[in-house]
This record gives sequence, C-alpha cells and structure tokens, in this order.
Amino acid sequence: MEITSDQINSLKAKLLSSKEENLNFQKNFPGEIDGAKSGDMVDIANSDMSGKLETLFRARYVDKEKELNYALDKISVGEYGLCEECDGPIAIRRLKLNPTALRCVVCQEKSELN
Ligand SMILES: [Zn+2]
Repeated sequence: MEITSDQINSLKAKLLSSKEENLNFQKNFPGEIDGAKSGDMVDIANSDMSGKLETLFRARYVDKEKELNYALDKISVGEYGLCEECDGPIAIRRLKLNPTALRCVVCQEKSELN
C-alpha cells in the first residue's frame, strides 16, 4: 500500500523534531566546559576521558543528523518510504517506529544476517 501524503507529512514533522532535539543535544553537551584548569594528573586523565566520550557522542549525533537529513531529502525528491535494496515499499508501521528506516523488513533482516 502506498503511503499517503498525510502520513508523509506526519513522518516529516517527526523527522524535523528529532533533528531539532539532536541539534539541541549537540549544543548543550557538557563537554564544552574546560576541564584543564588544574595541573593535577587525575584531573587531566578525567578530562581526557570525557573528551573521548564527547567525541563518541558527537560522532553518534552527527550520524543521526545525516540519517535524518537523508530521509528528509528522500521526502523532497518523492522517494521516501521505498526500500534502498529492492525498491519495494517500506511498511508504514515500520516508518512510524523508525522514520529513518532505509530498507523494508525483508532486506533489513538480510543485511543483519551478513
Ligand atoms: Zn527491500
């Protein structure tokens, strides 16, 4: 069954609000606090650790943003909701749970087995 434009609009709103949340998270990440105020070795080790965590978190959120933009691009070119592998429709139920899903359930399962 084809996805209706109403369904696309509500998924688009969802994608846009996740994008906003994602951006706010990146802006508010506490890693901006300068941890290198004291010369204590322990503090240096801790600030190094939080720097690594911050990098991990940021990478995750940058990926997320890419996924969200990709899905939004697909909406604008009218290819949203089609599986990247088989070009078949992705079930609306699946898109509601995960609006950035790129594959139908069958292809997703195949790719997870590999
Ligand atoms: Zn597929």
